[in-house]
Amino acid sequence: MTGKVAKKAVRKVVKDRYSWERRWTAPEMGGKEGIEELASDYMGHLSRCRTEREAVAYWKEALLGAGFIDGDCTQVSRLSPGDGIFFTNRGKAISAFIAGSEGPDAGVNIIVTHLDSPRLDLKPLPIDGDKDTGLSFLKTHYYGGIKKYQWVNIPLSLHGRVVRSDGSFADIRLGDGPDEPVFVIPDLAPHLSRKVQDGRRLMEGIKGEELLALSGMGRADMEKDEGRPSVVRQVLEHLNKEYGMVEEDLVSSELCLVPSWPPRDVGLDRGLIGAYGQDNRISSYCAMRALMDMKRHQIGPKRWGGVICFDKEETGSEGNTSARSMSLELTFYRLLELAGQRGRRRDLSGSLRSSFALSADVKSGVNPVFKGVQDPTNSARLGAGLTITKYTGRGGKSGANDASAEMVSGIRRLFNKEGIIWQMQETGKVDMGGGGTVAKFLGERNMDVLDVGIPLLSMHSPLEVSAKVDLSMAVKGFKAFLEKYQVDPISRGGAP
Ligand code: MN
Ligand code: MN
Repeated sequence: MTGKVAKKAVRKVVKDRYSWERRWTAPEMGGKEGIEELASDYMGHLSRCRTEREAVAYWKEALLGAGFIDGDCTQVSRLSPGDGIFFTNRGKAISAFIAGSEGPDAGVNIIVTHLDSPRLDLKPLPIDGDKDTGLSFLKTHYYGGIKKYQWVNIPLSLHGRVVRSDGSFADIRLGDGPDEPVFVIPDLAPHLSRKVQDGRRLMEGIKGEELLALSGMGRADMEKDEGRPSVVRQVLEHLNKEYGMVEEDLVSSELCLVPSWPPRDVGLDRGLIGAYGQDNRISSYCAMRALMDMKRHQIGPKRWGGVICFDKEETGSEGNTSARSMSLELTFYRLLELAGQRGRRRDLSGSLRSSFALSADVKSGVNPVFKGVQDPTNSARLGAGLTITKYTGRGGKSGANDASAEMVSGIRRLFNKEGIIWQMQETGKVDMGGGGTVAKFLGERNMDVLDVGIPLLSMHSPLEVSAKVDLSMAVKGFKAFLEKYQVDPISRGGAP
C-alpha cells in the first residue's frame, strides 16, 4: 500500500467511525422495476382519491381484498395472531391492525397519518352570479394552509357529498376525466393588474373572498322577482336535473374544489412524482402497503401492529374524525376485547402507555432555489431516505412533540439494523417558520411517539413533488417497524 492510499484508507475509517454521513437511497435500491411498479400503483391511488372520504372507500376495498375483516360490520369475538381487522370512523378516518402473539395490553406498534389535504371547500351557500357579465361563480372557503395565489388559473374538479332534505345523498365527482368540465378561478391579465393587484404582498395576490370559481355562463340580467342574476337560476336548474337537489340541500353538503390533473412523472429520468394530495396520502399509502404486505406474507408479529389514518389534520386536528377525538380510545378498547382482554380503563391506559407510534407525515425537502430557509445539516433531501424529526413546532419549540433521546434511539437502532436509510429533519432554520403533526395528540395519550416522514417539494400546493425512491424506502421502513420494533427498557426511558 502506498503512502497516499494508506492515508486515504485511514481517513475513510476515521470518517466512518466519527461522523454521520448522509446516504442516498438510489444506489441501495437495486433494480428500478420494483420502484416503478410501486410508483405507478401509488399514482393510481392518488388519482382515485382526492378527498378523505374517497381514500377511506379505497382502503376499505383494498383491505377487504387483502383478507382483513371489516370490524364495523362483522361480529368477531376473538382474533388469532396474524389476523387483520379494520374500523372506519364516519367514512372519513380508517384504522387497520394485525394481531400479534402478545396481547395489545403489551402495546401496539402504530403508524399514524392523515387523509385530508388542503383544498378549496365550497361555502354553505356557494352559488352566486354577476348580472353584468352573466357569469356564475362558486364561492369557496379554503381548507388548510394554502398559498391562495397558487390556486388560480388551474383546472379544478368538484368532489364531495350532498345530503338532500329526505336524507338521501349524492356523491359528486366531476372534472377528473378528460371529457368532463372543470372549474377555474380566473386571475386578472397583467395588462390590467398594475393598479389593483401588482403592488399587493404575495400572500394577498388573490384574497380569500376572491377565490371564486367559474361555474357557468348565461344571460346578463336579473331575475324579475328574485333579485338575483338570471344565471343563478340556470345553475340551480342544472344541479336539480343532474343531482336531484335544490339550493337548500347545499347547506348540508361537503363539497370542495381540488386540482383535476392526474399525477405525472416529473423530469427527464422520471425519478419524481408531481401530484395533488401527497400530503399526506403518500404516508398513508406507504403505511397501508406495508401492513397489507405483512398480511399477504402471513407475518404474525409479536406485537400488534396497525395503521391509523385520521382526518382534519390540516385544520388542527379538531373534531370527531381527528387525532384528538376519542375514536382512538374506542379503537384501543376494541383491540383489547378482540384479544380476549377486558376493556377496562386501566387496561386501556396500560396499552396506550406501552404503545409506540410513528407519526408519519410529509416534510419540506430542500428546494435548491430557496436553500436559505433551512439548516443544511438538519434538513431533508428528496431521495435521501425517511426523515426523523425529533421535534416540530415553532419558535422555542412551541407546540412541539419533542421525542426523547431514548425513543429516537429505539428507531435509529431498528433502522440501522434493517438497512433503512434515514435523515434528520427540522422544518426550517430557527425562527424561520414551523409546523406540527398529529404527534402531540398521541403524546397526550401517554404514548411514545416519534415523527417520521417523506420529503416533498411545493408542499400544500396543487402539484406537490416527491421522489419515487423515497416511496420504496418508506414502505421498507414502515414494514420493519410494524414487524420488528420491540419496545425495550432503553426506548421507554428506563421507566416502568
Ligand atoms: Mn401532513
Ligand atoms: Mn399539511
